[in-house]
Amino acid sequence: MEASSYDNRIRKGLQGKVAIITGGASGFGEATARLFVRHGASVIIADVQDEKGRALCNDIASGTDYSDSSSISYTHCNVTDDTSVKNVVDLAISKYGKLDILFNNAGISGDLEKTILGTTNENFKKVFDINVYGAFLGAKHAARVMIPRKSGVILFTASLASVVCGETSHAYTMSKHAIVGLMKNLCVEMGQYGIRVNAISPCAVSTPILTHPLGIDKATLDEVITESAVLKGVTPDAMDVAHAALYLASDEAKLVHGFNLMVDGGYTITNPTFSMAFKRGTG
Ligand code: NAD
Repeated sequence: MEASSYDNRIRKGLQGKVAIITGGASGFGEATARLFVRHGASVIIADVQDEKGRALCNDIASGTDYSDSSSISYTHCNVTDDTSVKNVVDLAISKYGKLDILFNNAGISGDLEKTILGTTNENFKKVFDINVYGAFLGAKHAARVMIPRKSGVILFTASLASVVCGETSHAYTMSKHAIVGLMKNLCVEMGQYGIRVNAISPCAVSTPILTHPLGIDKATLDEVITESAVLKGVTPDAMDVAHAALYLASDEAKLVHGFNLMVDGGYTITNPTFSMAFKRGTG
C-alpha cells in the first residue's frame, strides 16, 4: 500500500500514541493497523481470528516501513466478553503505560435476511452482542483508563446503515444506529475529560464481512459497488476507512467531537430509486 500525499503531510501524526483496534485482523481493522503503525503508533490488534491476527503482526513487523517490531502485537479478544475486553485494555497499560486510541471496529453483518418475519431472534441477539454490546464494553474499559489521564480518542465503526435504511437487516441497521447513539451520548459525557469520541460510517467495501455472506469474489463485489456509487472513478477500499480513522485519531482533529463521518462517496446523500425505476420503465 503506497503512502499518499495526505499520508506524507501528517506522516508520523500518531508518533508515541498507543492504540487498540478491535476486529483488527481483517478488513478495515487490518488497514488501520498498518496505517497507524506507519504513522508512529504502537498498535494492539484485538480479534478472535488468532492465526490471521498473528500473521498480520508478523507481516507488519517485517515491513520496511516499521523500525520497531514492539510497536505491533496481537491479542485474542472477544468483544462480547467483559473480561476479554478488560484484559486487552489492561495489556495496553502494562505494555505501554497508557491508551490513547480505542478503535471499536469489530463487527458482523449477521444473516442477510431483511424481513422482520424472517429475522431469527438468535441472529438479532448475536448482531447486537458483537456490534453494540462489544462497542459498549470497549468504550467502558477505554474510559476507565482514559478518564484519569484526561485524554484519549474513542472511535467507532458505524455504517451507511446508521443513516440509510432498508438495505441491511433490521438487526444490523439497528445496531449501527445504536452505535451512533452511544457515540453521541459519550461525546457529551467524555467532553469534560478532554476525550474525543467519533464514528466512521463507510459505504459497502469489499471485505470478508460482505464477500463471505454474499458468496461472491472481491472483483465482482467491487463492480457492483462502483456501479451503484454516486462518486464515479474510485473503488472504495479498506484504506479509505483507515485514513478517516487516522485523521480522527490524530491531534489534527482536536476539535472534531461527536461526529459520524460518512466515508461513502456521497452514497447516503441521495436516493436513486425513482431514477432507477424511471430508467427501467422507459428503457
Ligand atoms: P471484516 O469481516 O473484514 O472484519 C471484521 C473483524 O471483526 C474480523 O476480523 C472479525 O474476526 C472481527 N470480529 C468479529 N466478531 C468479533 C468478536 N466477537 N470479537 C472480536 N473481533 C470480532 O469486515 P470489515 O468490513 O473490516 O468490518 C469492520 C467494521 O466495519 C464492522 O463493524 C462492520 O460492520 C463495519 N462496516 C463494514 C462495511 C463493509 O462494507 N465492509 C461497511 C460499513 C461498515
